Amino acid sequence: MKNRVLTVPELARHTPLQNEIKKDIQKAAEVFPMAVTPYYASLIRKDDPACPIRAQCLPDPRELISGCGDMEDPLHEEGDSPVPGLTHRYPDRVLLLVTNECAVYCRHCTRKRKVGDNNRGVTDHDLERGVQYIKAHPEIRDVLLSGGDPFILSTARLERIIRKIKDISHVQVVRIGTRTPVVMPQRITEELVQMLKKYHPIWINTHFNHPREFTAESVKALARLVDAGIPLGNQTVLLRGVNDCPHIIKKLVHLLVQNRVRPYYLYQCDLSRGIEHFRTPVARGIEIMESLIGHTSGFAVPNYVVDAPGGGGKIPLLPNYLLSLTANKTILRNYEGVICVYEEPVNPTSGCPATCTICKSDGVEQEPVGLQKLVDPGFPAVSLVPEGNRRKARHLEREDKACGC
Ligand SMILES: *Cc1c(COP(=O)(O)O)cnc(C)c1O
Ligand code: SF4
Repeated sequence: MKNRVLTVPELARHTPLQNEIKKDIQKAAEVFPMAVTPYYASLIRKDDPACPIRAQCLPDPRELISGCGDMEDPLHEEGDSPVPGLTHRYPDRVLLLVTNECAVYCRHCTRKRKVGDNNRGVTDHDLERGVQYIKAHPEIRDVLLSGGDPFILSTARLERIIRKIKDISHVQVVRIGTRTPVVMPQRITEELVQMLKKYHPIWINTHFNHPREFTAESVKALARLVDAGIPLGNQTVLLRGVNDCPHIIKKLVHLLVQNRVRPYYLYQCDLSRGIEHFRTPVARGIEIMESLIGHTSGFAVPNYVVDAPGGGGKIPLLPNYLLSLTANKTILRNYEGVICVYEEPVNPTSGCPATCTICKSDGVEQEPVGLQKLVDPGFPAVSLVPEGNRRKARHLEREDKACGC
């Protein structure tokens, strides 16, 4: 951390740069700060102008171009934030930002507006409010520590945070999202994993985007974490000019599973300001999924998701495998393009085993959410209508008498 490259003159000492390029980098770095660890900088191939490592860590003048869909907070994290630094979007889990520092400021970062900004650090007061919020919400069973990068904190500070969260009786799982195994694998020390081990179940997601990020050091960091019994997942961002190719992604997921890391998400690039040049069409993601599903081990296939602009959460996307439906036959195609028919069961009785009580075991009948309302036999809805629908408003004006139910 101490030896990070933070300025263009320092960068020029690591890698030869033409004056024009220096100026461009400088301009972009004034808007979105630069930080590169000496380790990650050492992976840049100086003879490759399209080096995927360089693209992910060196400022680029294209960051200053505003794309037409760009938004300041595309995921609406602040809107879904009941206390600063905590996002409560899904029913049973929250995202808690524990720092806004990272080892390397990824040029494609969706929280680009926040990371490395000295004025937006996470205070003890913010953290305490976050912990209090989790305490007050018994439905939260999974707490995801993120940032910034939680492994930038000292082991002692991180331990204090984890312990506070673990002390809340309804929290079942703590998750950590970190890029240090990729950009500063030296941080995965024996001391760190010994601490984490005390708080199982701890799940970790890391962030490998390219096969070239696998080195002797990063492989060792992953092994340390898995050997400590920590289930590892990986979140990749689909990045134009870096990894937007079925062959690159396939090689990446194979390297991940060889290192006992489960590919978890493949993210469509968000609409954050300054990353338009990294965005690919959604079609590229579908093409990549088409090349993976069936063609390689099921556990090597990540979920391809678009994080819905406006805060709708992650939406999974798949190629179309369902070709048609009739009352008693479902027509499907497989990864090879073979078309087959699945015969539906005769007289299927739906519902649950008569003696099962799992749905009532919390003492509360779960109210159906979203589309469940259309399927739940106890719920009379025949349609879900978005708020502010004009046609519905007209119905109300006319005192909707048509239907008595
Ligand atoms: C991604 C995310 C989570 C975790 O989602 P999973 O699908 O459970 O991994 C939780 N909260 C927020 C705000 C998120 O963006
Ligand atoms: S490590 Fe994560 S939070 Fe930090 S800059 Fe990279 S993508 Fe953003």
